[in-house]
Amino acid sequence: MKVVSSLNVLRTELEKSGSVALVPTMGNIHEGHLSLIKHAKKYAKTVVCSVFVNKLQFNERADFLTYPRTIENDLKKLEMIKTDIAFLPSGELMYPNEQEFFIEVPDYISECLEGQFRGPFFSRVATIVMKFFFLIKPDIAVFGKKDFQQAFMIKKLCLQFSTQCTILLGETIRDFDGLALSSRNSHLSSSERANANQMYRTLVNMKEEILKNSELEHFNLEFLSQLEGTGRDRLNNGGWECEYIKVINKDLFREPICPKTEWRQLIVLAAAKLGNTRLIDNIEIVKSNIQ
Ligand code: AMP
Repeated sequence: MKVVSSLNVLRTELEKSGSVALVPTMGNIHEGHLSLIKHAKKYAKTVVCSVFVNKLQFNERADFLTYPRTIENDLKKLEMIKTDIAFLPSGELMYPNEQEFFIEVPDYISECLEGQFRGPFFSRVATIVMKFFFLIKPDIAVFGKKDFQQAFMIKKLCLQFSTQCTILLGETIRDFDGLALSSRNSHLSSSERANANQMYRTLVNMKEEILKNSELEHFNLEFLSQLEGTGRDRLNNGGWECEYIKVINKDLFREPICPKTEWRQLIVLAAAKLGNTRLIDNIEIVKSNIQ
């Protein structure tokens, strides 16, 4: 594995690379990231995994400062699964000057769910992803369904900017008890960790209710809203602070208009805090094939 921090070396490496797949990460590499890299390997000759903690997408300075940075361990894991290039750009390389231009993300993505709680997050993510695309010019880039709203946004972004980069999505990798792997899980205390799969269990429960009722007369917006309320109460009563738990149409990224005809396209998305740690997760009612 080549560990590259300079743009010149990266360019030289990419000249002899054949097709390139990019897996952007912020490090603290776990099995979720590794599964995306393994997926990428099936589609391209050279896989680049970038590790860059993008300061501009953090809403709170403390969150940025405490974000787990474990680069030595990360490199071992990346090496173990034979990643071709680990790209570790510095802040100066990605932002040589103060960034003044940002990509504008349409409100129906940027103002709802994650967007309501994370300020200009989506615009900042779109901007850094496009910067990576300009530098690396990948044929393929792989993102995780774990961050569904982000993945949806990036798919649209690439389509509308004609990037010529195919976006593939990887399934969410979970711990033994269903908790979605996340770098932020390392912030959980042991008692919080013991309770942390409650979000996933709540999502599974909501999926079961949707599947049980989807063909019945009462499967309407009111039913879904009650289901969301029950999910929210369950989390709040279990010691969480629920920010949202919402059923939407995943193909259109909006509330369903007619749940009975759209039920196969539904996804439940949730974000909640357990102590100081904010976790997100989602569950598709019918899983789309890994793309
Ligand atoms: P991050 O380092 O958290 O910014 O994530 C980098 C990429 O890994 C993003 O595309 C995430 O959606 C993806 N990812 C994060 N957690 C998981 C997981 N548990 N399973 C699969 N992909 C994940």
